[in-house]
Amino acid sequence: ENSFPAIPTFSQSLDNVLGNKGIQVGSITELLGLPGSGKTQLCLQLCASVQIPTELGGLDAEALYIDTNTNFTVNRFKEILSASMEKCGNILNTAKSNCESDHLKRLHYVNAFGLEKFCSLIFTLPQLVTERPNVRLIIIDSITFPFKDGITLKQRTGVLFRLSAVLQKISVENQIAIVITNEMSTRIGLSTGSLVGAFGDAWAHRCNKRVLLSAPKPLENERFAALVKSNNSPEAVGKFQITIEGIRD
Ligand code: ATP
Repeated sequence: ENSFPAIPTFSQSLDNVLGNKGIQVGSITELLGLPGSGKTQLCLQLCASVQIPTELGGLDAEALYIDTNTNFTVNRFKEILSASMEKCGNILNTAKSNCESDHLKRLHYVNAFGLEKFCSLIFTLPQLVTERPNVRLIIIDSITFPFKDGITLKQRTGVLFRLSAVLQKISVENQIAIVITNEMSTRIGLSTGSLVGAFGDAWAHRCNKRVLLSAPKPLENERFAALVKSNNSPEAVGKFQITIEGIRD
């Protein structure tokens, strides 16, 4: 068993909120938040963190990034990646450009725009992760977008139920961390109770952890993260920042 089966966020406070030194492999974590609350930035940070070499206490692994809404930008990922490697002591010095591109190759980007493409991708995931055994992190950014139009509530519930079953099986059997972003609409209140309403009980039940991210006040950079549901950690609140280098305390 790996001595560090968690993916650090690079914020001690956020890791504490998540419990167990960061995002756990073998489980599904949902990041909930309004637009601009930092969901995508945290995902990019995790895609960098998952690459930390084992000598430095990391997983030395790869990530699969499923983008449903053009959230991903490679330049921002590069920025976070090199800052993260430097911070953990893995300075990409010799033949810098080669090193950098090796690291970039360890993020597998797939776009899945539209519900049909998204569903077919999820159903081929078991095969995809078998072909890429070093993938220990799967990002779905976001789960909200494919379901925005042209689907009834009943259909949505049915599709989500089947999707979440596939994801749960993969996370456990392949010991992969699955991180799903869910864009709350402003209609959904911020109180814990009403969060269950974001996609319904069956969906909430499949996620092992739900973390609510909040955007900072104007002219401040302090952001809050609250663990609002967990199978094995107490509810908790922490702080983090988004800097040019990525997620930090
Ligand atoms: P959406 O639902 O719209 O995709 P999100 O929750 O994914 O939103 P992000 O895109 O992750 O939000 O966060 C955007 C915020 O991240 C910006 O408002 C900005 O404050 C911060 N941010 C982005 N890039 C940088 C950077 N290079 N340096 C500092 N902060 C940044």
